[in-house]
Amino acid sequence: MRANFLFISATVLLALVVAIVGVVAMRVYLRYRGKMLVRCPETGKAAAVKVAAGDAARCALLGQDDIHLKECSRWPERQNCGQACLSQVGQDPQNCLVWTKVADWYRGRTCAYCHKPFDELHWHDHRPALIGPDMKTVQWSDVAPQDLPEIFETHLPVCWSCHIAKTFRRQHPERVVDRPGNRGPMGELLTGHTEEHHSSSTARS
Ligand SMILES: [Zn+2]
Repeated sequence: MRANFLFISATVLLALVVAIVGVVAMRVYLRYRGKMLVRCPETGKAAAVKVAAGDAARCALLGQDDIHLKECSRWPERQNCGQACLSQVGQDPQNCLVWTKVADWYRGRTCAYCHKPFDELHWHDHRPALIGPDMKTVQWSDVAPQDLPEIFETHLPVCWSCHIAKTFRRQHPERVVDRPGNRGPMGELLTGHTEEHHSSSTARS
C-alpha cells in the first residue's frame, strides 16, 4: 500500500516536472519563432534573421540557454559572423518580428489612393501594398524583409483593393478611363478629396 502510494506520488511528480519543462520550452519556442528584422552591427543596415527557435526550445528542456541564428539575409557570405545582433533580439523578440514592424507602419495610416484607414493587420487578410516613386504598387510580402525599413521611408501605403485596381490599370491601360483628381507625384489622392475604390479609373467594357 505504502509502495503504491510512493509510486503514484513519484509518477505525479514526474508528470508535473515534465509538464512544467514542456511549458517553459514551448514559451521559448514561441518567443523566438518567426522572421525578424535587426540592425546588422557590421553594416548598420537592416538584416532579416531567424532564430533557431527549435534548438532554443530543446536546450531549454535541458535547462540550457542557447540562442543562435538559423537564417540571415547576409548568409552565406557572412555565415561566420559573431551574431552580435542577437542582443537586439534578446531584448524584445516580438518587437523585432517583421510582422510587428509592418503592422506598426500601416497602423494609423490611410491608403494613398482611397484614403481608407488601415485597421489592425491580420495574417489571413489580403496583404496591403505600398507605392514608390516608380509608381508601381507592390504587396509588402513581396518585398525582401531586409529592404522594408528603407522602403518604408520612401513609399506610401496602398490598400489591397487599390493595389489590384492599379495593377489592372498598369497591365491593361487600354481598358481604363482616367478621371484625374488632385494627385501627388505617385498618383496618390491628395487631402481634401475622397474616392470610392476604383472610381479613379473605370474599366471599359
Ligand atoms: Zn485604397
